[in-house]
Amino acid sequence: MDIRKEYLEFFKNKGHEVISSMPLVPDDPTLMFTNAGMVQFKDIFTGNIPAPKNKRATSCQLCIRAGGKHNDLENVGYTARHHTLFEMLGNFSFGDYFKEDAIAYAWEFVTVNLSLPIEKLWVTVHNSDDEAFNIWSKYISKDRILKFGDKDNFWSMGDTGACGPCSEIFYDQGEEHFNGPEDKMGGDGDRFLEIWNLVFMQYERTKSGELLALPKPSIDTGMGLERVIAIKEGVLNNFDSSNFKPIIETLEEVANKKATKENIGSYRVIADHLRATSFMLSQGILFGNEGRPYVLRRILRRAIRHGYLIGLRKPFMAKLVDTLVNIMGGHYVELKENSNYIKEQLTLEEERFFKTIDLGMSLFSEELSNTKDIFSGSVAFKLYDTYGFPLDLTQDMLKDRGLEVDLVKFEELMKNQKAMAKAAWKGSGDSANGGDFKTLIEKYGLNEFVGYTNISYSSKI
Ligand code: ATP
Ligand code: MG
Ligand code: MG
Ligand code: MG
Repeated sequence: MDIRKEYLEFFKNKGHEVISSMPLVPDDPTLMFTNAGMVQFKDIFTGNIPAPKNKRATSCQLCIRAGGKHNDLENVGYTARHHTLFEMLGNFSFGDYFKEDAIAYAWEFVTVNLSLPIEKLWVTVHNSDDEAFNIWSKYISKDRILKFGDKDNFWSMGDTGACGPCSEIFYDQGEEHFNGPEDKMGGDGDRFLEIWNLVFMQYERTKSGELLALPKPSIDTGMGLERVIAIKEGVLNNFDSSNFKPIIETLEEVANKKATKENIGSYRVIADHLRATSFMLSQGILFGNEGRPYVLRRILRRAIRHGYLIGLRKPFMAKLVDTLVNIMGGHYVELKENSNYIKEQLTLEEERFFKTIDLGMSLFSEELSNTKDIFSGSVAFKLYDTYGFPLDLTQDMLKDRGLEVDLVKFEELMKNQKAMAKAAWKGSGDSANGGDFKTLIEKYGLNEFVGYTNISYSSKI
């Protein structure tokens, strides 16, 4: 079953307009990346722009959660369900239907179209939301509707903007996957998998933190496509599904090494990061040292480090791109059209990092053997400054060992370096002084965002 198509058609038949995925970079400086399907509609929810004639919409939105309020970078490779880039299926009502219909539609799709067994479903609601509780109790027994507070059942896109209480659907993967108390809904265990969030958009959070009532209560839902595909394919881990498996298999060939229980995490991280970096490049994001371009660089360098761990010593990501295009290029035309450019850019950045990674890894290991409680901030800075190891990469390398970087020292060195760079800039006289400008650019990179010229976003059902 093509779940993406099934979903969009289901909602189309219920009067929704099918809308294409918006770019990964939103037109909003407060938001790092498009992190949910509702982002392209956020001003409609708040009433800043009028609702379209058809007050119902549906989409399959590419999302990135690798920075800002929703950041799953640290989870990738550690949980079975998180990706940096994923597809979010959603249906939206701009002041049209509300809780009653949103719940009825979701229930119908999950139990009829997806035919998930009712005895495996659980639901959560906000502890103040009796209305949602009562609606759900028409479909599912009351002891499987759990109430939680704001942490689990109040959704916000970012620090400001549209938000509201929410209700979520979970899939029980079976008692045998119970990992202890952390396996409660919303926890990091494998038993209860969150699949769909129905947000009852009722408020706008202002800069000062105040909650204002929206002109009209609205609906925003989000369901992770990769998770649903994994359930339907009967696998417990998204990375074992057809979305990722072929990439992992290609990587096994490229590395000439089979994944094992010990190193499978590296294969998964690489498969995940291949998707995120390829899509970011296909949409015009460049490698750089700040902001979004730096997130792109950090994600790729994490992937390279995992490649290094499984024995790769030269660029390898480009060799995986065709497999990704086979999986996703049919729906996302920009991925297919830009595949040569993606390969070229990945390889160039890999060449840059492979030049210094050996020396950086030796410095890291040497320092690690001297580390008792806290990893030296000066060494972390040297890794960053001389060998191109982003701080979060070093932190990730220490995570398994339960160690942390001395951030106070790291920040101090970073601040000094920025001050020096500023002084060097001032000292360079007028901007026609090409020599100094060039040195700075070489050292810090150009961070300008080049935009979407010539890139098409058309995506079809
Ligand atoms: P989780 O608790 O698993 O981190 P979430 O509560 O942060 O998920 P929501 O913000 O409610 O997620 O997003 C709606 C849906 O999008 C989720 O129910 C899930 O199916 C999917 N989703 C969220 N984050 C990810 C991710 N990093 N990778 C894949 N799917 C995701
Ligand atoms: Mg999350
Ligand atoms: Mg959650
Ligand atoms: Mg959620």
